[in-house]
Amino acid sequence: MKASAFDYARPTSVANALQLLVAHGDKARVLSGGQSLMPAMNLRLISPDVIVDIGDLSELRGISLSGDRLSIGALTRHVDLLQSPEIAAQAPLLTQAVAHVAHPAVRNRGTIGGSLAHADPASELPACMVALDATIIVRGPAGERRIAAEEFFTGTYQTALSPQELLISVELPLPRENAACFFQEFARRHGDYAIAGVAAQATLQEGGFSDLRMVFFAVGDRPVLAKSANRLVNVAINPLVLSDASRALGEELDPQDDQQASAAMRRHLAKILLARCVGVLLGRPVPNASEPV
Ligand code: FAD
Repeated sequence: MKASAFDYARPTSVANALQLLVAHGDKARVLSGGQSLMPAMNLRLISPDVIVDIGDLSELRGISLSGDRLSIGALTRHVDLLQSPEIAAQAPLLTQAVAHVAHPAVRNRGTIGGSLAHADPASELPACMVALDATIIVRGPAGERRIAAEEFFTGTYQTALSPQELLISVELPLPRENAACFFQEFARRHGDYAIAGVAAQATLQEGGFSDLRMVFFAVGDRPVLAKSANRLVNVAINPLVLSDASRALGEELDPQDDQQASAAMRRHLAKILLARCVGVLLGRPVPNASEPV
């Protein structure tokens, strides 16, 4: 199948792109890397009247350090994240996660802005943004908005972006002293969308955690910042504490059944990821008193 006919515009500035989005409203779609938009159009899941191709907006591309923030432009491609020394030093969680996003051909074109705006609940980057406590910067006719990543993802393929807004960049706080991160996912093949995954950012303190943001993905309609992980903060981690957090995680998650896995299997995989994450971050295995790992 091929896409329905559409008009094509290639703006030369962000202001020009916003004018087009205001003029066409929800009949227009922004084109970044095209790796999710074009398949959806070819399958006629969506049929926009106008494509606004932002590929020439070089001000939306690149990674820069400014004060205590790392800024990543919306058009920065997955491959740029993977190869960036700044990302490896300041946000190693992203380096680890991007290696699991699709395959080189997709990573060569797909962008961080496209991935976040697309908001697939099984995507790696949205979960990382929540784990890293990122701020997502969007611009529209009423000016700029700064949205906490935790508030940005509102459902399956849904975000706080309005059709007249453009995702401009994301900002990440620099890691604290004693920061550590963990990323792992279960997928049928490397590069497939996850069946269940976790992205975590922690601050270590005396063999435990003084802060732990553990974000599960592919187990709900958006990335889930696990409240149950708070049970692991500022306590001595032992098998009973881990079992308690694991049980609370099982109650907190509300995964769906689909062709890939049942809800029960996803919940089980998330608990395994929790135990692995804690063990790797602390540098020692912590047996879960109630679950075989
Ligand atoms: P596009 O496809 O251009 O756009 C996606 C959506 O975001 C569209 O609705 C578009 O209008 C909107 N949009 C794009 N940029 C902006 C912006 N700046 N402001 C506002 N709206 C915007 N992704 C994963 O996370 N994990 C995977 O394992 C994975 N596997 C894949 C396997 C295959 C075979 C393919 C084809 C894709 C896969 N993807 C995967 C998706 C890939 O990561 C895409 O690159 C990404 O989801 C979208 O980025 P894009 O730049 O291609 O965006």
